[in-house]
Amino acid sequence: MATSYALMIQPVDGDADRADFADTFASVDPAAPALSVGELSTQRGDGIFESIGVVDGHPQEVDAHLDRLAHSARICDLPAPNLAQWRAAIAAVAAHAPAGESVIKLILSRGIEHGPTPTAWVTLAPAADFTAVRERGIRVVTLDRGYDSTVPARAPWLLLGAKTLSYAVNMAALREAHRRGADDAIFVTTDGFVLEAPTASLVLRRGDRFTTPAPTGGILHGTTQLSMFAYLQECGYETGYEQILTESLASVDAAWLVSSVRLAAPITAIDGTSLPTDAAFTADLNAYLLSPRD
Ligand code: PLP
Repeated sequence: MATSYALMIQPVDGDADRADFADTFASVDPAAPALSVGELSTQRGDGIFESIGVVDGHPQEVDAHLDRLAHSARICDLPAPNLAQWRAAIAAVAAHAPAGESVIKLILSRGIEHGPTPTAWVTLAPAADFTAVRERGIRVVTLDRGYDSTVPARAPWLLLGAKTLSYAVNMAALREAHRRGADDAIFVTTDGFVLEAPTASLVLRRGDRFTTPAPTGGILHGTTQLSMFAYLQECGYETGYEQILTESLASVDAAWLVSSVRLAAPITAIDGTSLPTDAAFTADLNAYLLSPRD
């Protein structure tokens, strides 16, 4: 949906000790061109981003998103973001959010070719209405990610644990899922392990135990999954990170794809095999995810 507010940021050093960043922010017309044609984010997808859910003006889990932004920057050899500056930018943008659900995007690009600094900006846009998806659920297919579970450690230059701007593969996987009659996909490794969805983490339930694939380099550590595990622990459930076999998916008691804006989407079928769902549990979970939880 159309961006409603945009702020360009002049990034300061990661360890700069300042409290006021107003002179490093410039609000720009979100409908007008704002980037140079030499931008490496647009030429090469060379940069990182975060999408933060905003509910009634409150940006959710800002610290977890900033931790992941800093982690992605380290993996991509980008200058360390000044977290106080980004926190201030998020607050400045969130002040323009209307009631209801919105999304704030943080973008840190390598900048302009041969230019002096990275380019950074923050946008605000209305969120799509996911109410029906949260209730009705989604059908997913497993898709081969094309590498085995040892690749993230063997080839760190593939940047597999970073939230980079290069989402063309993720979008292609979603189109393939749609071609196969499903709503979404779960990536799996060639040696039979479950990874994540193109834009979400996977959480599985067996009895009173909830698990998610361990974020050991090959996938993102989801901020929504972290929040969900904190909620489940409060409710007295067991949670854990595991290596999960693809062949074990069909026998779970319930499964969700969870992410910052869609929140918890219950999975109704994997590769054509129906999965049990628990509408009341999912409604409670989404009510928690919609509440100010940090
Ligand atoms: N994995 C991938 C590849 C994603 O793109 C996302 C979110 O966009 C997630 C997991 C879930 O992360 P979060 O819960 O922080 O939105």
